[in-house]
Amino acid sequence: MSRHDHDLTSEKPLTRLVRSGRDGAVTGPFVNPPVVHASTVLFETADDLLGGTQRYVYGRRGTPTIEALESAISEIEAAAGAVLCPSGLSAVSTALLSVLRSGDHLLMADNVYDPARSFATSVLERMGVETTFFEPTVGAAISGLFRPNTRAVYLESPGSLTFEVSDIPAIVAAARARDAFVLADNTWATPYFFKPLAHGVDLSIQAGTKYLCGHSDVMIGTIAANARALPMLKDTHGHLGLCVGPDDIYLTLRGMRTLGVRLDRQMQSALTIARWLSERNEVSRVLHPGLPSDPGHMLWKRDMTGSSGLFGVVPNDWSLDKVKAFLDGLRLFGLGFSWGGFESLAIIGRPRRTAGSWPAGDHIIRLQIGLEDTADLIGDLEASFARVSNLS
Ligand SMILES: *Cc1c(COP(=O)(O)O)cnc(C)c1O
Repeated sequence: MSRHDHDLTSEKPLTRLVRSGRDGAVTGPFVNPPVVHASTVLFETADDLLGGTQRYVYGRRGTPTIEALESAISEIEAAAGAVLCPSGLSAVSTALLSVLRSGDHLLMADNVYDPARSFATSVLERMGVETTFFEPTVGAAISGLFRPNTRAVYLESPGSLTFEVSDIPAIVAAARARDAFVLADNTWATPYFFKPLAHGVDLSIQAGTKYLCGHSDVMIGTIAANARALPMLKDTHGHLGLCVGPDDIYLTLRGMRTLGVRLDRQMQSALTIARWLSERNEVSRVLHPGLPSDPGHMLWKRDMTGSSGLFGVVPNDWSLDKVKAFLDGLRLFGLGFSWGGFESLAIIGRPRRTAGSWPAGDHIIRLQIGLEDTADLIGDLEASFARVSNLS
């Protein structure tokens, strides 16, 4: 224990982001951990090789670089432990595979990231797991959807395309009463604004590709677990042989140090732009739980400490051609998938629903607000509105 190592449980979120995962015993006097490129790890003697007591044994099984990010994630998520995966989607699939067995039933929110839905209806279905999709706003009424073999509930709040907020404590209470696991994709809020495990969720998933890394140059996923789920998570993650390259881990850890200042700034800028958009007559609805008019606002305010820079805009009765022309007219917003980086982006989203219907229009313009000047971004949107004003 040196003066640099101390218990972080009383520290505020910004301090935690800066201090977590910095083990002096590994890094020595350096601020950042070594980037260890390794498959083979050498042992001093044949006894050591067989002994099973050496701290590092094989690249995939742990290095100082892996440990630095795993322990940082564990600390910022207030978790019993965490694992790293080579993409956000592999974190989703690994978390699901950790708790599900053949013959189980899964409850999945209808607003989840589309590839998570596809994983359930393809691989999980083939493995004998049946999935029922539920309305993300179901709340305590989820009780009625449980079957004797319901093993897990998977949700994403707010959903990253349609932005409904789920009542996580109510869903957790219903699941706990039946001994089911709750898995949450928390990529939108990040642990900086919401800690799923503190609200009773068992496995908290992040596409670290987004805000954690924050610079649009890494694919990575993280899963943090409470004590109940950690042994199953570690076991499945180990059997699947997942590991992440050291440079990507390093970049993610480096991005994490500035997560708080980036998100504080992106929250303010996104709220300003969302408010501006909600007053435009080209817009029928802005999907952003941080706006008091949003149906999810009260739940968001109760459970989360902030909102990130991703939200949706439903245009007022626009044809697809007009939506496309609007996007084509943008200069500062890039057109591209993913989000959470320093640059602003726009995509056209089409919600896919099976539990109910999506009431608010076929095309959602999803905006990721980056770190550019807010007034410049509004100017870009305003110029594109003007360019398409004569289209229908
Ligand atoms: C992008 C995303 C993922 C998948 O992450 P990848 O790193 O692209 O595989 C999962 N969940 C959400 C909410 C996402 O936005």
